[in-house]
Amino acid sequence: MMTAADKGLMVCRTCGALCRRVRSISQTRCPRCFDAVRFRKRDSIGRTWAFLIAALILYIPANVLPVTESHTLFGTQRDTIMSGIVLFWTTGSPFIAAVIFAASVMIPILKCIALALLAITAQRRSRWRPQQRAKLYRLIEWIGRWSMLDVFVVAIVVALVHLRSLATIHAGPGVAAFGAVVVLTMLASKSFDPRLIWDPVETNHDSRQPR
Ligand SMILES: [Zn+2]
Repeated sequence: MMTAADKGLMVCRTCGALCRRVRSISQTRCPRCFDAVRFRKRDSIGRTWAFLIAALILYIPANVLPVTESHTLFGTQRDTIMSGIVLFWTTGSPFIAAVIFAASVMIPILKCIALALLAITAQRRSRWRPQQRAKLYRLIEWIGRWSMLDVFVVAIVVALVHLRSLATIHAGPGVAAFGAVVVLTMLASKSFDPRLIWDPVETNHDSRQPR
């Protein structure tokens, strides 16, 4: 299959103009907006891993540190995401418990596993199920648009608890860690270049790798 890269053509990611690579110049600039133009996202796999590892590291404090601190006459109660889920489950709100579990525990972990799978297969130049992997990438990107929902859910929960009790509730440090996890997984998926999935599939020109 013929590719635009073979013809020295690329698209400016800032303004969308079609640009031609000038071989005499090391850095191609967009003729319309003068931004630097590249064939691919720079250091795609390395950056994806960096954001992914940072997200996984912060996933620990996000789950260990309290997300809510409620002060009552009887003292201070600190809840982590998990203890909050258990609290909702045991106090007769299994639906809220399930929503928080899906949004804050399941989705971030599944997103990280999926991105790691994409990064590993791209790194090994795997030819395994490229269409399914491309679909998986689109799914991660689609989820990414709703990712802030996780933080939103935490906010709703805090408000709900607030309405139910006389306690004063503050957001705990876990919320900051959790927000960072959400942002880092979004950056990881933005860094991944889905065109890497198709490179090894294009058998007729695997000797040339446009930069
Ligand atoms: Zn441009």
